[in-house]
Amino acid sequence: MSNIVLDFNLDLLKGKTIAVIGYGNQGRAQATVMRDNGLNVIIGNIKDKYFDLAKKEGFEVYEIEEAVKRADIALLLVPDEVMKEVYEKKIHQIISYKSDFVLDFASGYNVAFGFIRPPSNTDVILVAPRMIGEGILDLHKQGKGYPVLIGVKQDHSGKAWDYAMAIAKGIGAIGLPGGVAVKSSFEEEALIDLLSEHTWVPILFSAIKACFDIAVKEYGVSPEAALLEFYASGELSEIARLMAEEGIFNQMVHHSTTSQYGTLTRMFKYYDLIRKIVEDEAKDIWNGNFAKEWTLEQQAGYPVFYRLWNLAIESEMAKAERELYKILGRIRKD
Ligand code: NDP
Repeated sequence: MSNIVLDFNLDLLKGKTIAVIGYGNQGRAQATVMRDNGLNVIIGNIKDKYFDLAKKEGFEVYEIEEAVKRADIALLLVPDEVMKEVYEKKIHQIISYKSDFVLDFASGYNVAFGFIRPPSNTDVILVAPRMIGEGILDLHKQGKGYPVLIGVKQDHSGKAWDYAMAIAKGIGAIGLPGGVAVKSSFEEEALIDLLSEHTWVPILFSAIKACFDIAVKEYGVSPEAALLEFYASGELSEIARLMAEEGIFNQMVHHSTTSQYGTLTRMFKYYDLIRKIVEDEAKDIWNGNFAKEWTLEQQAGYPVFYRLWNLAIESEMAKAERELYKILGRIRKD
């Protein structure tokens, strides 16, 4: 398939200064792997514990503006919610004065929905790992790659796709077993990322909570038995691993025939209902309604967010989980 890239070279990045802005989950991992791959990486971070950590781990660390001034390429790896402000206050003007620049994002959100509009002298590229930062570092140690989506919003140099592929190589995603870059776009990445977060993840959580409430309250099942069956045993992560390795339907052969029959009949029974939910959510993402909703929520000080967090952690299921995890000695960050 022509949109699949399995390997590339680092030639375009050699001799360039690459600023990683934000030494957090992604920033620390991507910076470490690029440095191990022989690239010249500096860090831009606000003066906090991550600034100190980056220094301790042997990087040259600067305030964000100074790092951008010194760089030819910047990877903007601060949280999406603060990215627009960081970009406008600390980056836009500096890169406007350069003859050219490469600005890389790990998520399509802010560019796709028009919150960040870099100047025309800049290549605007996307290299979005489908992997958490710790996972990137673990795979790097094992000599393995991981999937990334790559995209180009603005191609000033005429080499923007090459930059995206080179960065995918530099951060250890491609050129290694398990590694693949898929040519995509900021808009596509934002759509599919949000679509997961707005559909199957909350549908799964709702289903688990409803299963717990009905089984415990209406059928007298013990909370411990319910929790272990529905997710606490870890079987769910085994299923997810088999889905990735063997295929979503192929992995069903590891379950009983009764289980396969129940899953297939109910999947087709509920499909139309679920498809309608997905259709509505996709529309809301694509037309920018969700981005507006989230911006308003942030501007109001996150009232809905905190209310719903509270509702979730005060639910009967969360309380039962705390009890069970205490007995099982599982570490939790409450
Ligand atoms: P983090 O939450 O780990 O934060 C990254 C860094 O940004 C930290 O050093 C943080 O410092 C700093 N930061 C936070 N607020 C500000 C601010 N107001 N001004 C300047 N710096 C600030 O981010 P992630 O690594 O999770 O996400 C970075 C990007 O990567 C995002 O675009 C995200 O969507 C994308 N991404 C993330 C993945 C993940 O696994 N987390 C997976 C794929 C993509 P401090 O905490 O001290 O404020």
